[in-house]
Amino acid sequence: MQGTGIEISFPQSFYLYITEGGAFMADKLQQEIKFLPGVGPRRAELFNKELGIYTIKDLLYYFPYKHIDRTRIYSIAELTPEMPYIQVKGKILGKEITGVHRKKRLVAVLGDGTGTMELVWFNGIRWIQEDIKEGVEYLVFGRPSVFNGKISIIHPEMEGADKKEAVITSALQPFYSVTEKLRNSFLTSKFIHKLEGIILQQYLPLVKETLPEYLIKKLNFLSLQEALWNIHYPVSAEMLRRATMRLKFEELFYIQLTLLSRKSNRERHIKGFVFSKVGDYFHHFYQHNLSFSLTEAQKRVIKEIRRDMGSGRQMNRLLQGDVGSGKTLVALMAMLIALDNGYQACLMAPTEILAQQHYRTFLRFLEGMDVYVHLLTGSSKKSERQEIEEALKSGKLQILIGTHALLEDNVEFSNLGLAIIDEQHRFGVVQRARLRNKNANPPHVLVMTATPIPRTLAMTLYGDLDVSVIDELPPGRKPVQTIHFSESRRSEMYAFLKKQIALGRQIYIVYPLIKESEKSDYKALEQGYAALQKIFPEPHYRLCMVHGKMRPAEKDRAMMAFKEGNIHIMVATTVIEVGVDVPNATVMVIENAERFGLSQLHQLRGRVGRGGEQSFCILMTGNKLTNDARRRIEIMVSSNNGFEIAEVDMKLRGPGDIEGTQQSGMPFNLRIANLAQDGQLLQYAREVAAEVIEKDPELEKPEHSVLKEQLKQQKTQSFEWSLIG
Ligand code: ADP
Ligand code: MG
Repeated sequence: MQGTGIEISFPQSFYLYITEGGAFMADKLQQEIKFLPGVGPRRAELFNKELGIYTIKDLLYYFPYKHIDRTRIYSIAELTPEMPYIQVKGKILGKEITGVHRKKRLVAVLGDGTGTMELVWFNGIRWIQEDIKEGVEYLVFGRPSVFNGKISIIHPEMEGADKKEAVITSALQPFYSVTEKLRNSFLTSKFIHKLEGIILQQYLPLVKETLPEYLIKKLNFLSLQEALWNIHYPVSAEMLRRATMRLKFEELFYIQLTLLSRKSNRERHIKGFVFSKVGDYFHHFYQHNLSFSLTEAQKRVIKEIRRDMGSGRQMNRLLQGDVGSGKTLVALMAMLIALDNGYQACLMAPTEILAQQHYRTFLRFLEGMDVYVHLLTGSSKKSERQEIEEALKSGKLQILIGTHALLEDNVEFSNLGLAIIDEQHRFGVVQRARLRNKNANPPHVLVMTATPIPRTLAMTLYGDLDVSVIDELPPGRKPVQTIHFSESRRSEMYAFLKKQIALGRQIYIVYPLIKESEKSDYKALEQGYAALQKIFPEPHYRLCMVHGKMRPAEKDRAMMAFKEGNIHIMVATTVIEVGVDVPNATVMVIENAERFGLSQLHQLRGRVGRGGEQSFCILMTGNKLTNDARRRIEIMVSSNNGFEIAEVDMKLRGPGDIEGTQQSGMPFNLRIANLAQDGQLLQYAREVAAEVIEKDPELEKPEHSVLKEQLKQQKTQSFEWSLIG
């Protein structure tokens, strides 16, 4: 192999492989792993089930999640629980099994002359106990922690200090993630590392380059073979860095290439309706019905939408904006442009409450205008449904607002020109595709979300959409002030609430609800409610309780009473997260705030600050917080910016857990790139992909045949995300 400085001795039979046809060579990489030495059918099945690894190629692309510099050996005396993975060298001074049943564990004492520490195992105890020998010197790897008040490593990796290093050696030891089940069958990170060594030696030369030569040269990348070698067996820190860079780039690049080529295909092959004019509906609304002026951000976004809809291309645009930033109004104005050009428009919302709210908002905004709007939800009556269906088909009905009910087959439009989806992340891909297919020629599509997602995630999830952002709240809103109170200051909090009530304001108090322990959560809510009734006694104070287990009618009644101002404090679970809009409510108290995720805290906070008065969000927590919880609380207190919060959220939780991706799932499974860390590389990969697509949209040039081939392969594996276009 060139450039790695490593000599590999290939097995004799290797030369047979490369002299055979290309297809056969590729097949070799598709061989099942059960034929590898030390694997066999049973272990292969575990690899399949636990890690989704079936073939040699899968294994080759199973990358370590980190590398540890094994040239550094720490002394026990200098260990602290804050350290990452480290290595120490010492002798086992003693070992014993303590505890019974589920608490059973093996504890060994390790000494190195500077001090002693404990090594602790909860699993595989019997085997490990026999394996580790007292008086023998070991190299021990792991992450130090404090267990039972002593510095310890739980489930360390051990290796005899005198043992010759593995077949191929490197100072940078890779760590592969393995599951409990794998570990119990001795399929450890180290085992995987050895397997990688075996397959690298035998199969690496069969791996074909996946990026065009000219790009590799231009970007000064390692070849794929060199990169694969160095990710598993780095010859130096520098080569590891370059290998990681190339593999990350490639991963992000192909996602962007997929998205951008899809976007370009759409733009070249789908004819969009041309909304050439802005007419009476729009102008009348703007001049007579709009009682306030648009924010600069709203104006900009409306311009972007207008330009799309007039361009002859079919619009596929994502509109992001914090709660209350005025997206609904933008949606309405876009619809009026559709109407001005003789088309129908629809708006789909994820819940009945939201659909109703939109419907009422539309009726209010359109008062005095001759626009035929209707609401269609699961609870629409049959006769009403028929009327709607007929009016839609005849083209008389101009704007239809509703829930999933819009997707039903007998909802047929005469000429749907614009489809808008609110809170799009709550809909699945199929549903969005169905809405789009409501018209023979696809309508313009605008999807809206109030759940801000970080830029890198948006670029990956919605990379084939154009993105608009409303980053400005309507004027006159005072930003919500967020305050953190720990349990010991609870009475201060109550005093504050009483003052607010005396000023005529209303309050939400929210309790967390986590499905697994529903019963105990309701208990917390009910006990909390009982305690509050003592502190805020009737008849001077009026309280109500709302939770998801109540019948809808009951819930609506309580919410109505609150909305009308007859209730001072609404005690609730997170059911109030969506749909409630009460401008007079100025305080949001979140109990056990440490149990909520950041985006949920931010959403809840968005329930207040909707009127002209100063609003407050009070985060109640226990006196002691974990580091993560403290970070979450701190960012909430210091920022009102949903995007900033989403960025922190992604860093704390990882992109897969970001709210908004959970329901729809990450369409791309990232093996090595990390959206929280690789933002710049992602941007770069997108630029390079855009350049390629611009020059050669069908990837027909000979130097791009490799790209075309890869996309074809990926198409069968990956998930069609953006069917909405
Ligand atoms: P979103 O859908 O983004 O959460 P809405 O469209 O519901 O926000 O707007 C929140 C509130 O602000 C509504 O009552 C709306 O009428 C009002 N609003 C929207 N735009 C403006 C503006 N430019 N100036 C003043 N109020 C506005
Ligand atoms: Mg909204």
